[in-house]
Amino acid sequence: MPENDCLFCKIIAGDIPSTTVLETDTTYAFRDINPQADVHVLVVPRTHHEDAEALAKAPRELADVISTGVAVAKQEGIDAAGFRLVFNTGEHAGRTVFHAHLHVLGGEQLGMFGRPGH
Ligand code: AMP
Ligand code: ZN
Repeated sequence: MPENDCLFCKIIAGDIPSTTVLETDTTYAFRDINPQADVHVLVVPRTHHEDAEALAKAPRELADVISTGVAVAKQEGIDAAGFRLVFNTGEHAGRTVFHAHLHVLGGEQLGMFGRPGH
């Protein structure tokens, strides 16, 4: 069931516009509105799971999200050069949207993980 005030549930429902990259029965992939790399796509499960911990309790959907992330990388042509898959969790990671989402980042050399500016 969609959560009333969830931004990504509204995007999945089409109530808020997004740029579709890939769709499957269980997942939806769309371009991040504030890209942090040449390719920056978000993959969400169609059903609402608050975070990675909740999504891990639905292992099939978690696997679908990761599979779609890899399929996005292939479709975007960044798989050979390499790409990054990220779940931000909690305040220190700068997490802002509470519907589990996988970031697919690539298309250029990425910085190291971790501290701001890296
Ligand atoms: P996080 O910081 O992991 O919670 O990531 C949330 C991501 O959602 C950020 O990278 C935002 O740029 C992105 N975002 C927020 N609103 C939208 C939107 N309407 N369409 C696409 N991406 C969005
Ligand atoms: Zn949601």
